[in-house]
Amino acid sequence: MSVPLPQTVTLAPHVFQWAFPAATKAIALTTNTYAIVDGGEALIIDAGSDHPQAVQFTLQQLTDWGVHRVIALVATHYHRDHTCGLVPLQAALQVPLWLHPLDLPPAVRTLGPGVQLQPAPDSVRIGSLTVLLHHAPGHTHGHLHLEIPDDRVVLVGDHLAGRGSVWIGPPDGHLDDYYRALDQIARCGCSIAGPGHGQALTDAAAAARSLRARREQRELQIWQTLHQQPANLDHLVHHLYGQLQPPFLLTMAQRTVQAHLQRLLEHGHIQRRYQSGQGFVYQAKEAPP
Ligand SMILES: [Zn+2]
Repeated sequence: MSVPLPQTVTLAPHVFQWAFPAATKAIALTTNTYAIVDGGEALIIDAGSDHPQAVQFTLQQLTDWGVHRVIALVATHYHRDHTCGLVPLQAALQVPLWLHPLDLPPAVRTLGPGVQLQPAPDSVRIGSLTVLLHHAPGHTHGHLHLEIPDDRVVLVGDHLAGRGSVWIGPPDGHLDDYYRALDQIARCGCSIAGPGHGQALTDAAAAARSLRARREQRELQIWQTLHQQPANLDHLVHHLYGQLQPPFLLTMAQRTVQAHLQRLLEHGHIQRRYQSGQGFVYQAKEAPP
């Protein structure tokens, strides 16, 4: 089976993006790969397809760009739709594969014990460029943002999407962390954000602020619902989303609501009690979020 070959997009003088179909739940159905290239050196970020043609496409581009040294492969986080294509690339290129230390154990479970993984450094030189690797948990505990200050580009993995929202939920995800990650994107001074899925965003700060506002609105809506009437998770999800099909959408909605409930509990805006036959029932306190 062959895959359609993508168009490579030049996001900035040293940053390139292309996408292959991946086993992802994102709306885009593809995962982006990025290359940062300067002075014959390169860094490759994320790859969601282990199809031989996807691997060959990347290797051919490195040749076309005159790259003689790939410094490393980097995964923004451990999820398989960002990492599975890095495994055959590592075998072909014989270079380190970096993740944040907190995402190394789940990456070993996801990719299998045979893959050599290393903890990512805080920064790396690619030719004359400095690339900063920021620890930015939220979607996963070891999620990374890669900032290329010279090009004013930040690669944000699954913290923004080319279209729509992204998924944050337990056990990997935490909303307070995610809000901090969005603030980091908004404040870093980059104009372009490269998401894990979908097209690049040309106003990184605006995109980060709008996703944060959307989350806060959903959180207020959950508090208001619980203020009118206490409810357990199932009732709350049904009230907010109605009937959801297919089942994985329902699971994702449940975990999204769980993440909001966790944050509302942590900040003292709601309380919960155990009720036989109902499980945990959540109730709003007087102060709204
Ligand atoms: Zn992910």
